[in-house]
Amino acid sequence: MIVDKLDVVALGKGSKHAGWLTVASRPDGGDWRLPFLCVRGRQDGPTLVVVAGVHGDEYEGVEAIPHVFGQLEANDLKGDLLMVPICNMPAYEAILRSSPIDGLNLARVFPGIPDGSITHRIAASVRENLIRQADFFIDLHSGGITYNIPTLVGYAHDEGDLGQRSLQAAKVFGAHILWGHPLPLPKGRTISTAVGLGIPCIYTEAPGGGVARPEDVACFGNGILNVMKWMDMLAGDPEPSSIDYHFVGKGNLDQVVSAPLAGYFRPKVHLLEGVTKGQLIGVIQDFFGDTIHKTYADADGHIIMLRRLHRVQVGDGLVHIATPI
Ligand SMILES: [Zn+2]
Repeated sequence: MIVDKLDVVALGKGSKHAGWLTVASRPDGGDWRLPFLCVRGRQDGPTLVVVAGVHGDEYEGVEAIPHVFGQLEANDLKGDLLMVPICNMPAYEAILRSSPIDGLNLARVFPGIPDGSITHRIAASVRENLIRQADFFIDLHSGGITYNIPTLVGYAHDEGDLGQRSLQAAKVFGAHILWGHPLPLPKGRTISTAVGLGIPCIYTEAPGGGVARPEDVACFGNGILNVMKWMDMLAGDPEPSSIDYHFVGKGNLDQVVSAPLAGYFRPKVHLLEGVTKGQLIGVIQDFFGDTIHKTYADADGHIIMLRRLHRVQVGDGLVHIATPI
């Protein structure tokens, strides 16, 4: 099945559907398409939308989504589950975080432009065909090749109904670290678009590194099923889970401690380590091994993101510190 518009209601009830959503034409006469997987329950119920591969070098969700699709029986489901394992197909093809075609980061251009460059077109299509249909929205990310991030679930942090539903889903998802981001969320994201449409939402992170660790694939897959149980789309209760850390903060990974000069970065801290403002967290060395820059913590808290790749260019993010509540 190949479609230009994805309308879940137009797909047959009580069955599973796999197909391609066309988002833009290619210069070779073909099309850029996103793979979709949809399980339509026989009974009416809410719609859960799950996407992955917004960054082309993050693989946990790419693996978890087809696994969940394979596990589910349409007859066991109330409502609809709509999933796209790879949103940024050009970046996935090139094994890059951002698009090799227009250089844009898909997670910064939402809501997109329907007649813009390829990344804008994908964003506009994801917004209209996927996010807009959701009663709840999940975006599966990880640190990709460049960054190391603990396995966590992030959510829209707010006292209102949308924030409270996002928090509840984050708790039942099953990751042991929660990270709430007060509204308004930074612009350009899938989840800022969801919030703008009034849709509660969560996203995930994991260590990444160019691999999908089995424990993260299992966490993400079970997390989707747990949220479906919480939404009464599946029978049973979400698996009980404990929370090791609960952070609240902006979580804008564009605003991190970054490299003021190019060189070879060597961290002096490890992921989740507690640090205090002013503490040495890493050094940048030159080709002779001499330290040319020292990087210090800009806040008290725990290391939530640490650059994995040693080679750094000016402006590259090195570390981000989150504050527990
Ligand atoms: Zn990502």
